[in-house]
Amino acid sequence: MKFFAPQIITGSGVQKERTIQVENGLITSIDFGSAADAINLNGSVIPGFVDIHCHGGGGFDSSVDPRAGEFHLKTGTTTMLASFVSEPINSIVAKLEKLEFARNVIGVHLEGPYISHAHCGAHKAEYLTNPIKSDLEKFVATKKVKHITIAPEIEGALDAIKYLSQNEVLVAIGHSAANSDVVNLAIDNGAKIVTHLYNGMKKDYSDKSTLIGSALHDSNLGLELILDGVHVPLQIIKDIIAAANTRIIGITDAAPFAGQVDGEYLLGELPVQVVDQVARLKTGGALAGSTLTMDKAFATAINLLGINPVDAVQMYCTRPAFYLAAKNVGDIAIGKKANFLVMNDEWQLKQVYFEGELVS
Ligand SMILES: [Zn+2]
Repeated sequence: MKFFAPQIITGSGVQKERTIQVENGLITSIDFGSAADAINLNGSVIPGFVDIHCHGGGGFDSSVDPRAGEFHLKTGTTTMLASFVSEPINSIVAKLEKLEFARNVIGVHLEGPYISHAHCGAHKAEYLTNPIKSDLEKFVATKKVKHITIAPEIEGALDAIKYLSQNEVLVAIGHSAANSDVVNLAIDNGAKIVTHLYNGMKKDYSDKSTLIGSALHDSNLGLELILDGVHVPLQIIKDIIAAANTRIIGITDAAPFAGQVDGEYLLGELPVQVVDQVARLKTGGALAGSTLTMDKAFATAINLLGINPVDAVQMYCTRPAFYLAAKNVGDIAIGKKANFLVMNDEWQLKQVYFEGELVS
């Protein structure tokens, strides 16, 4: 199958007037010019989005229901992880064993239970616990866990970070009160990124002794960012991007009620009220996941923040694929999966192709 792209935008630049050849779901050639039998992709063609932090959407919970992945596929997420909130270890293991992945889901992200009571956000405090090796071994044995969030200051965390990093799990620092010394120890033990920078931590990003300050100004950590204009005020996002443009990883942190109307829902077991598409816990009012989708976040990055499209593709496609070590996605190049999106002039999503097939 052949596709003609008036313009391809990847994380490394812009190519005009290319024909993409696809065989068995993979890109086999990209040539200048148009072929007579090519399907015309009428717009800017970018790689499919890669979302490493997503709890659900369309009314479905990523931790139990493959339909959450299918919902996000329609909004351009051709690769994602299914995120779990904190639960008892046995319940997480049982869910891991049972969970069937949607075609675009390549693994699981555990956002808890190894996080700080001081910054637990929408996680149920009674489920928070310290990591112990025998539990971590159960997670690793499922081969499904690709990413985990850990507060490095809790007991046993540094050993856990080391063990998980050595077992191909991407470790994020997050929901944490760690100071910069502990952040550096976490990095020494293998932590690579920060879970939703600014959320679930102290917010003084000019203070380098804090997690956010040291992550932003004194590290090479990848930085997850929720770009819905609610979790992080747009002016602060501008400051973060100015300080760390090449390290931002766009995520949704979408809750199961993303894509649903305002109303009352559950996040895990906690009751949530969604008003004007902003979700907060009914008790305490903490932000409780987002209603964001990757296509909306991508458009906001370009249209509202003035990020250039190549950098936006880095944020939403290339860089998250890099951190997941998902080598066959996040780019439009020979040998990669034929996962690509067609965007209009306003950077709205028009079409999604998954392994060369149009997703409707
Ligand atoms: Zn989350």
